[in-house]
Amino acid sequence: MIIRTLSDYCKEKFGTKVYRLSLSTGCSCPNRDGRAGRGGCSFCSEGGSGEFATKVKPIEEQLEEAKDRVKSKFPKDIKEEDKKYIAYFQSFTNTYGDVDRLGRIFKTAILRDEIAALSIGTRPDCLEDDMLDLLNELNKIKPVWIELGLQTIHEDSAKAFNRGYSLSVFNKAYIELKKRNIEVIVHVILGLPGETDKDMYETVRYLANLNPKLDGIKLHLLHILKNTRLEREYREKPFKILSLDEYTEILINCLRILPESVVIHRMTGDGDKRLLVEPLWSADKKRVLNTINKAIREAKR
Ligand code: SF4
Repeated sequence: MIIRTLSDYCKEKFGTKVYRLSLSTGCSCPNRDGRAGRGGCSFCSEGGSGEFATKVKPIEEQLEEAKDRVKSKFPKDIKEEDKKYIAYFQSFTNTYGDVDRLGRIFKTAILRDEIAALSIGTRPDCLEDDMLDLLNELNKIKPVWIELGLQTIHEDSAKAFNRGYSLSVFNKAYIELKKRNIEVIVHVILGLPGETDKDMYETVRYLANLNPKLDGIKLHLLHILKNTRLEREYREKPFKILSLDEYTEILINCLRILPESVVIHRMTGDGDKRLLVEPLWSADKKRVLNTINKAIREAKR
């Protein structure tokens, strides 16, 4: 089994290690404000979901602050001009807003010398033609990565967590992005209520067989967070929570299904410990990473 991690890929592509700068566009989410749905995805926490557009600092200021937050990660002897970053718009639905306003934000970031690529998290139902044109234009300047939170291919599970769009919407957006040579990274959640191992493998197999080929994947563990609909559902009617060993086994099998070309951006989630209800084992990040890395080493033999 060969795994192409994000770090390997960045070294290949940019010739150096790059760090992500967490930035915000201030966009809201159509799955909360009524355009696509109300209440949001069941696992999405109130604070983290961006249910309301937030007033954000100017992008120049955000970039400087974010660079300051990651500066200790670089080796001491690296020159300032050699430091490279990915401008990462992760939270909320970052293509859900005025195209001109978003264009100004994305261009300010991408045109800076230290920015190697843009990574934009969004929903496939928020990629209208004018937004696709903007992404196409940006992608000609530097690489643009679009992250889509599909989570599962199974419509029943998607309805249960209130994703607010069908698989066909994802398929259409995927084709439109790939037509423009934009890299697509798909998020998948392992451990959704009611999903069996087989269901999860079907999702990953579907993604592994996409044509054009998928660029990257983020495999997440389902987190139940405080004050979410998922927490209420879990307390009323507990469902199966994966143990660390079960998660690791499923993860390794998913990695086996994926072609070597797919970049593995993430192998577990990074939930807010203060909000975590279950699985509690996931709070011990060191143990989780050690277990996963050991299983990968064994799988590679
Ligand atoms: S997970 Fe994303 S799409 Fe779902 S409610 Fe939260 S912000 Fe919206």
